[in-house]
Amino acid sequence: MTAKIDPAQRHPEKAHRPDNPTAHPKPKWLRVKAPTSRGYQDTVKIVRERNLHTVCEEAACPNIGECWSKGHATMMIMGDTCTRACAFCNVATGKPAHLDPLEALNVGRAVRELALEHVVITSVDRDDLPDGGARHFAATIRAIRREAPNATIEILTPDFLRKDGALEIVVEAKPDVFNHNLETVPRLYPRIRPGARYFHSLRLLQRVKELDPSMFTKSGLMVGLGETDEEVGQVMDDMRSAGIDFLTIGQYLQPTPKHAAVDRFVTPEAFEAMAQKARAKGFLMVSASPLTRSSYHAGDDFRRLRAAREAWLKGLRSPQAPGAVTASPAQ
Ligand code: SF4
Repeated sequence: MTAKIDPAQRHPEKAHRPDNPTAHPKPKWLRVKAPTSRGYQDTVKIVRERNLHTVCEEAACPNIGECWSKGHATMMIMGDTCTRACAFCNVATGKPAHLDPLEALNVGRAVRELALEHVVITSVDRDDLPDGGARHFAATIRAIRREAPNATIEILTPDFLRKDGALEIVVEAKPDVFNHNLETVPRLYPRIRPGARYFHSLRLLQRVKELDPSMFTKSGLMVGLGETDEEVGQVMDDMRSAGIDFLTIGQYLQPTPKHAAVDRFVTPEAFEAMAQKARAKGFLMVSASPLTRSSYHAGDDFRRLRAAREAWLKGLRSPQAPGAVTASPAQ
């Protein structure tokens, strides 16, 4: 049920480029089972009936069998066509269609039908819209609150580059978690995320905390695009300076030969070493493994994130732990 990958159709801007073969075979720790479960089929039915797009399918995510067997679909709003053309991403590029005025309601109802306790909503980039889609995000958050009031809401947004006032509109709608992925290290932005700016993305997350210090912030990186471990460490430091609470790190997988090649497959042990390094730098939560994606196990992680903050605040208030007042929150 994953999206059919036709590079010429989905990525016209890449069609004329030479193939980028990945030199290394896919290691065994990245092999996943084909989706077959009853729960998976139930999720497919609701997604189709509600006329929704999901990043799980559009990005050809390897975790779809596991996530959808539990109803954990990550809705992708504002269409299935993106105005950017990142070198890692399988979402189709082109001129997007008009916004669907019923989408917010359909997402809200799907969250209720899937009985989700925690939902992740993402979107394509909509540089064509004056507000980058900020009002549509806010309307979707409000619709979920109405239709499924007990669900907690995590949003994974575009960068709203050159869309003044857009971020404020989204933050005002009060999602529980605000996620925006930095994706890679600054040196690789011109090649991997040419339409984005590293320091703008970082500043976006810092600004969320300034606007609403109670809102959790989250960001993610892919490894295997040509970054070094030292550069990853520097991005961790940048993220902590911007007050980011939760870091995810996963293995980049090449969607088609026209996309950036995989530079290295990081072992599960090396992911664990990265996670330890990140925890030492003071993130409230870290998730790092080959199959980690922003939305993977997001519900369980949200509960742990909330508990970690409560424990940290308790430490701040405790007269027995005066040192904790200056310590950064750590998992
Ligand atoms: S990890 Fe995220 S994108 Fe992948 S299948 Fe699960 S919910 Fe969907």
